[in-house]
Amino acid sequence: MITPEILHQLATIVGAEYLSTSQEIITENSQDALKQVFPAEAVVFPRTAEEIAGIMRLANEHKFYVTARGGGVGYVGSAVPIRGGIVLATKRMNQILEIRKDDLLAVVEPAVTNYDLQKAVEAQGLFYPPDPSSWKESFIGGNIALNAGGPHCVKYGNTKQFVLGLDFVTPTGEIVQAGGRTPKNATGFNLAGLMIGSEGMLGIITRAILRLIPLPETRKTALAIFASAQDACNCVAGFTEAGILPVALELLDRASINAIEDYEPSGMPRNAGALLIIEVDGLKETVAREAEIMRELCHKHHAIEYREAVTDAEVDGIWEVRRKMSPAVKRTGAVKINHDIVIPRSRIPEMLAFLEGVSQRYGFPIPTFGHAGDGNLHTNVMLPNNDAETKHVGAKAVREIFEKTVSLGGTLSGEHGVGYAKAPFLDVALSAPTIAVMQAIKHALDPNGILNPGKVFEAPFAADEMDFLTSDFPCC
Ligand SMILES: Cc1cc2nc3c(=O)[nH]c(=O)nc-3n(C[C@H](O)[C@H](O)[C@H](O)COP(=O)(O)OP(=O)(O)OC[C@H]3O[C@@H](n4cnc5c(N)ncnc54)[C@H](O)[C@@H]3O)c2cc1C
Repeated sequence: MITPEILHQLATIVGAEYLSTSQEIITENSQDALKQVFPAEAVVFPRTAEEIAGIMRLANEHKFYVTARGGGVGYVGSAVPIRGGIVLATKRMNQILEIRKDDLLAVVEPAVTNYDLQKAVEAQGLFYPPDPSSWKESFIGGNIALNAGGPHCVKYGNTKQFVLGLDFVTPTGEIVQAGGRTPKNATGFNLAGLMIGSEGMLGIITRAILRLIPLPETRKTALAIFASAQDACNCVAGFTEAGILPVALELLDRASINAIEDYEPSGMPRNAGALLIIEVDGLKETVAREAEIMRELCHKHHAIEYREAVTDAEVDGIWEVRRKMSPAVKRTGAVKINHDIVIPRSRIPEMLAFLEGVSQRYGFPIPTFGHAGDGNLHTNVMLPNNDAETKHVGAKAVREIFEKTVSLGGTLSGEHGVGYAKAPFLDVALSAPTIAVMQAIKHALDPNGILNPGKVFEAPFAADEMDFLTSDFPCC
């Protein structure tokens, strides 16, 4: 319970104008892309690590909950204050502090958007590859806390491959520096690594030192349609055999192709098994050669249609097919249960066949698309309506999908995290001793359970009690 005395002390720490109890501000800051609102009692907007440390010490003294917030566009409810308390919105901490071409690094505050960082480093001939589709809205702090990925991660790696160092405030209010400015660092435990993917439960990131790479000179983009998912996956495997790592290898399954054709017909064959969007990047000479191999591979694996972009407009046209997934999928049901399973990429054909079977058995469309290059598939179980019985059956279908995923050597989330949305299924992927180690770390850092309660280990709702009403929101 946030008392007037606590509000007074919070105002003393951050300044009265950066503390809000307005219902509008609370509602805005108490939800994420799942669009379920669990209202906080107040929202604070600190500017410095010292202010955050002060807030955390106060929270431990008075035992109120704190939930850190970045851009608020997570897909699993991890930034939502489901047990009340305060939201600590980082949005004022939005400065790019340094970009060093010589050292290939950037130093940023947590509320810099992924997009702003990418544009700033590009202007200096540098590249920050992790590229969630939410890049314009999501913050680097949120990207790190969820270990975000995107199409470019197949070649360059997820957020975790690009974090050199972090400053963070512990749940009890100490300011810690982890890692540093060097790509190599074997001094002590990898505390920066511990923070990556910790869903805002182990500390609040106040500064990040990020690795950069030189910006590739050029790229080539193609779209290929295959009669079967197996052909498309053989083509993906063919790139490895040819010694090429494309920068993007995006796959859309048959249900996704049909969803797009229903939405905006563009003449794609409805009986096609899968579509690939492939992009290669690098030096001009290398890209020219890789584009040749890309063409040969697609034909070798029986592409029934192959389109290679020449102009920027054509590149955009190809990626537009991917962007259409969002409105197209939305029309296939009333409720969308969107998850981001990940499996070894060689098992994708088996997974797609399994999903078609689940779809037929339950009668729900399950358009699936995603990053074929790293086995990260976005499955969208589309329920025809929002009643309790349908949601119950939908949750059963989702559990079956997760069980199959794990049996194929995969896991529940490749990039979105667990939050509260996947918490009811955590036992499918992690053993009891594994969960116990994670809980011991959490308890060691946060003995009073102050920071972001009700996530990952606790399932505050059964799967079928949640309204995954994300149909109005774009997919990733
Ligand atoms: C349209 C759309 C497309 C998407 N595409 C992708 C995609 O391609 N790839 C992908 O990986 N995800 C994608 N997502 C999911 C989401 O945008 C990402 O997970 C993103 O990283 C969330 O960042 P955020 O700043 O919005 O974090 P928030 O939702 O604000 O917070 C997420 C978690 O991070 C914690 N957190 C936030 N800031 C800090 C901090 N400073 N210190 C410690 N913890 C903090 C929060 O407590 C919470 O647990 C997409 C979402 C949408 C809506």
